[in-house]
Amino acid sequence: MTIHIPVAQPDLTGNEENYVVDAIRSTWISSSGAYLQRFETEFAGLCDTRSAIACCNGTVAIHLALLGLGVRPGDEVIVPSLTYIATANAVRYVGAEPVFVDVDPNTWCIDPARIEDAITRRTRGIIGVHLMGHPADMDRINHIAAVHGLWVVEDAAEATLAKYKGRPVGGLSSVATFSFFGNKLFTSGEGGALSLNDDQLATRIRILRGQGMDPDRRYYFPVTGYNFRLTNLAAAILCAQLERRDAIIERRREIFALYNRLLSQVPGIGLQPVAPWAELSPWMYCVTVDEDQFGGTRDELSAKLAEAGIDTRPMFIPLHSLPPFREESRQRREHLPITDALSQTSIMLPTFTQLTDDQVTFICGTISDACRNRVGLSQFRRAA
Ligand SMILES: *Cc1c(COP(=O)(O)O)cnc(C)c1O
Repeated sequence: MTIHIPVAQPDLTGNEENYVVDAIRSTWISSSGAYLQRFETEFAGLCDTRSAIACCNGTVAIHLALLGLGVRPGDEVIVPSLTYIATANAVRYVGAEPVFVDVDPNTWCIDPARIEDAITRRTRGIIGVHLMGHPADMDRINHIAAVHGLWVVEDAAEATLAKYKGRPVGGLSSVATFSFFGNKLFTSGEGGALSLNDDQLATRIRILRGQGMDPDRRYYFPVTGYNFRLTNLAAAILCAQLERRDAIIERRREIFALYNRLLSQVPGIGLQPVAPWAELSPWMYCVTVDEDQFGGTRDELSAKLAEAGIDTRPMFIPLHSLPPFREESRQRREHLPITDALSQTSIMLPTFTQLTDDQVTFICGTISDACRNRVGLSQFRRAA
């Protein structure tokens, strides 16, 4: 079988090409232009925040948030260990140290009940990552932060337009960060943004993003800044993506629902939990594999799917176990059993708008075939 199903694929079937051509013809291809302004205005509206600030990627968005909040060498920042490396790398970029906290098995996001144990005199803030499209429990995180005088950042890279208690992510803390990498919900290839309500902080972040230039005095630089700008070309793509946000989300939700329906019958496959107050952003469909019940490990399943031409992605390796962080984590005696277990057992399945129902059925059938304890295969055979 030669069919190949990638794990992610951008949907560029709207006005992406038209708007890029328009930007080129206008000659506004660099870091200012009408698409950038339009994107920042629309994105702030979607996050229900006073401002949105475009930047060149999601890692830089976190870096800018930490710079804007004044994080300094020697500070500590509390982060989950079950996240993409960028969350902790950005903490290191400002000379601070990430301190890892375990995740809640009911949300896969940082466990608010474990945050206080990790707070020291050096702690300055908490990054609540909205992992796998699921919002972190922001009310509890914000409460702990308020009690201890800390700021909170939402790393919303994987959860654009997710909702927490009916409110969109992005305006639930001091500042939120987003990614528009090629596999994210909306993409410009590379790209990122911040959303926030604090005008002073927004001004600081804009200055830092643009080489530190004084907004009122061109080519005067009061601070050391960075070139972390996004291009108008990339913003043109993002404007087209946002136009089609409802269609993109609707198709991805259908795919999630079909996976849920077909995989809930396979022994040993566990679905991603969704808290009663959460509305998932349909980013990557992810399940857990219980080795005993399924009759095979996550990695064995991944290999079976690869043989059938289906690409998958394993869950993140816990950051506290990776070379840049493991010695410090060991010294702090961090013990993160939920993170370790989820990292070893969960797998991301193909999720993108052009994926057909037949392909989802084929993927689920292949998973079911790989299960040694399977029952009632007929429904897959018939559909596939
Ligand atoms: C993708 C991602 C980022 C980084 O985004 P880039 O645009 O790739 O730099 C940060 N945090 C999380 C949780 C992510 O998934």
